[in-house]
Amino acid sequence: MRKTIGFASIRTIPFSGKETKQPVVIDFKRFNFLKTHFPKTSRKDWKSWQWQIQNSISDLEKLEEIIKLNTREKAELQQLNVKLPLRITPYYANLIANLGSDHPLRKTVIPSTNELKMSFGEATGPLHEEDDKKVPGLVHRYPDRVLVLLTDFCATNCRYCTRSRLVGLERTVCNFEKVLDYIKEHKEIRDVLLSGGDPLTLSDAKLEYYLQKIRAIGHVEMIRIGTKVPVVLPQRITTQLVNMLKKYHPLYISIHFTHPAELTTETQNACRMLADAGIPLGSQTVLLKNVNDSADTLKKLFHELLKVRVKPYYLYQCDPISGSAHFRTTVHKGIQIMEKLRGYTSGYAIPTYVIDAPGGGGKIPVQSKYLIDENADYIFLKNYEKKIFAYPKLK
Ligand code: SF4
Repeated sequence: MRKTIGFASIRTIPFSGKETKQPVVIDFKRFNFLKTHFPKTSRKDWKSWQWQIQNSISDLEKLEEIIKLNTREKAELQQLNVKLPLRITPYYANLIANLGSDHPLRKTVIPSTNELKMSFGEATGPLHEEDDKKVPGLVHRYPDRVLVLLTDFCATNCRYCTRSRLVGLERTVCNFEKVLDYIKEHKEIRDVLLSGGDPLTLSDAKLEYYLQKIRAIGHVEMIRIGTKVPVVLPQRITTQLVNMLKKYHPLYISIHFTHPAELTTETQNACRMLADAGIPLGSQTVLLKNVNDSADTLKKLFHELLKVRVKPYYLYQCDPISGSAHFRTTVHKGIQIMEKLRGYTSGYAIPTYVIDAPGGGGKIPVQSKYLIDENADYIFLKNYEKKIFAYPKLK
């Protein structure tokens, strides 16, 4: 018997108010998909981000109907005997359906029995964010900045999500009044990162309320938003939204990209709109086994990002959350990939490869050893071609 998965299907959609639509470029190839799977829906609806969330795929029947699962995926889902959160926007479902039955991006959103296998060193919350949670919804780990978990909702659930214990589950994660009080009391906080879940799934009004309150705190110098919305729900990046966001500069946005195939016309347009609003954009990418773990794939992704003014910012080693072994590469493989990028393309195209240390150690950069030796007069450096050069010491 088919198991029903998807806590997300019973959740309240986290927006309200007037419908807003992305105004400019829409890829009309998408409308064949619309005609097939949502025959009663108009093109206007497809462009509405609220429609995309309301019609997102959150149960197996819909998933199978829309994505046409391959044999392995079908077998895996039949074996699932527990509920796992599931949500994919029609937009992103269409993207992965069109990419072919074996495209690596499919495994990033389609549930698998591998998620139920606990491997060596894995944990439900390996980053120990709970230890640094000062008030509900606020994590204070680093000296001058805090993480605020505004919502537990994401437009599409990633199968390797670090916060999978929260995302898509019906929980209250943030007491915003207490968060504000904490930030006001701690004058050392100059940087506030809004995350979740995905803050851009909130309505314009709600998000603006949060931004206004945080911006009004004198010692907060910058606000950052972490989001995957431009990738999985580009319709959300509307003129109204960017006009609102640009009132709260300096505001930075980090976008979660995985693969160059995600740079569709719609996503490129969403990035351009944000960049045109003066918002510095960075990317965050999780290194995923058999998805993007090759220098060629990542170089292509980073080049495409720079073309739409997104600076590759972090490449993350996948966190050892429970059931993540099938997604994790070795750290040595990550270093080898970085060695194939450094020197072979523009520095702007090279993110920092980091491990978010299990146990709450924070992000630690990992890289090839470039400073290889020293004597009384020189330090010895290895360049990208593995040639050795000497740099004179100060005397
Ligand atoms: S977008 Fe981020 S928070 Fe949301 S499911 Fe994916 S990894 Fe988790």
